[in-house]
Amino acid sequence: MKSLLPFLLLLGAPLPVPTAAVKPSIQYTLRVDSADLSGWTVAIRLRTNSDTIRLAMAAHPEYDDRYWRYVRDFAVESAGATVTRIDSAVWQIVAPPGVVNVRYRVALPPADPGPRASWRPFLTPTGGLIGGPHAFMYVLGSEDSTVLVELALPASWRIATGLTATRDPHYFSAANAAVLEDSPILAGHVRQWSFVEGGIAHRVVYWPLPDATPFDTVAFVSGIRSLVHQAFALFGRAPYREYTFQFEDGAYSGGLEHRNSVTLGARSEELARDPNAVIQETAHEFVHTWNLMAIRPVEYRDIDYRTQPPVASLWFSEGLTMFYADLLLRRAGIAVHDSTRAAHLERLIGSYLNNPAYARFSAESISRVAYNVEPGALGDYSASTHLQGELIGTMLDLITRDATQGRRSMDDVMRLLFERAGTQKIDSRAIERAVETVCGCDVTPFFDAYVRNAGAIDFDRYLGLIGLRTRVTWAPAVNNGAPERDLRIYGWESDRDSSVRLIVNNAASIWGRAGLHSRDQLVAMNGAPVRTWSELRAKLQSLRLGDTVRVQVRRPSGRFEASVVVAGFERATVRIERLPNATLAQRRLAEAAIF
Ligand SMILES: [Zn+2]
Repeated sequence: MKSLLPFLLLLGAPLPVPTAAVKPSIQYTLRVDSADLSGWTVAIRLRTNSDTIRLAMAAHPEYDDRYWRYVRDFAVESAGATVTRIDSAVWQIVAPPGVVNVRYRVALPPADPGPRASWRPFLTPTGGLIGGPHAFMYVLGSEDSTVLVELALPASWRIATGLTATRDPHYFSAANAAVLEDSPILAGHVRQWSFVEGGIAHRVVYWPLPDATPFDTVAFVSGIRSLVHQAFALFGRAPYREYTFQFEDGAYSGGLEHRNSVTLGARSEELARDPNAVIQETAHEFVHTWNLMAIRPVEYRDIDYRTQPPVASLWFSEGLTMFYADLLLRRAGIAVHDSTRAAHLERLIGSYLNNPAYARFSAESISRVAYNVEPGALGDYSASTHLQGELIGTMLDLITRDATQGRRSMDDVMRLLFERAGTQKIDSRAIERAVETVCGCDVTPFFDAYVRNAGAIDFDRYLGLIGLRTRVTWAPAVNNGAPERDLRIYGWESDRDSSVRLIVNNAASIWGRAGLHSRDQLVAMNGAPVRTWSELRAKLQSLRLGDTVRVQVRRPSGRFEASVVVAGFERATVRIERLPNATLAQRRLAEAAIF
């Protein structure tokens, strides 16, 4: 309680110009009662010199879980206070200026079936994930104020969070509301290791399920440490003062990046098989600490309760993060899924060629539909900004190496953007300028062709710079030795109606050619009603080559029935080989790029 004293003494005084001595003027208490794990309560004590206060639940730019839906019992303990909900995510309080005490409960929604997403809050008798936009409302207009957070948790729980520790282990501070919302809290019966890299403390925290499988924790932590070492070698320095890896048993192996922490799913049975089972995902989220959290897209706001608007440079934020997650692990000597860099690129180019979306949509337009849009935003195409961006980044790396005779690479571009990150957010033009500064070459035609406009990347042109080329073969797709059916379609259950909508992945598929379109509302297949994605999936799985299936759909223009004959489809396989006339200089460039 020591750290609280200066704050409490000042509560009676008029609100002065904020100085270190009076901060924080906003204090949160998050209470978890072990007798009731259905949610938690949050108390906010704040000082105000205005009679109107607005509190909002923040929207995460990438995963907006809309936890304002689960706020219960919102109350203000102040005589004559009135509360109005002026937006789904905003509560307005009118109360006499001075100290205002607000209290509400977050009632956790029922858990999804199957493994959890690592960034979603949960509570169990042995611990849980709390905090962030799922818990803390922020004060509109006071986003820059330092806040104090008290965690009143079951006594045996240890706390791991990116929030700043104080002398009292139950109190933490955040420099502003954005940091508060960006610092999830993993608490419970956790295991913890730490190491110092580049003079900075890194904590690895693991929350095990009660029946966790034992795994080699030394190898697990050592893989992470090698990754951190390589990230420092790439970027030169850290954008944080300390870092916490928050691993959760029982969650699937996805993660969510933050300024100085990351939540990651890491099932103990998978780590028992391979202590590096989640290292690729870890590497991806960790690279985001620089490329997305520090090097921020212009469209990113620090904090907002409104949905993140489309982000046109995600191809870079996601794609170059993919590129470096792979490279850093190879540089660290950690075995990755694709045995070699060439095998990795063969797989990526294969996926690119097998999906006509990449030649039809610019990197910016695929970026813009990566967050917060309903499926079908690209019509009868689906595409990954991660894949397209990683390939664009790979080609820009080759261009840079060639233009500088191997003296520079994308590494230098990343360092330059990171140096500028304090004063400049990025868009495709800023990225283009950074590449041009580093390579001393003109990449405007490249950005015009693939980033701002749509075009199929001429891979051989860029691979040729390092003495390589692709060999592409098209053949009927096979799966386990058997011809594969064209099932390039899936179903999506919209919130708006209780039906399933079709999503056509590829306009050239048998479904697209039969006249079906994404967002068609499925009525029936062969006369039998189909209402859910799982029903549709079962029907699709039962189809055999040569079957004819009648698909009845409803769309704004009326009903439509397609007759689809189930057939196979062609798939490209890519091999990368050395040009017979590759020069020694080209071979050296290829080696430096780990080819
Ligand atoms: Zn990512």
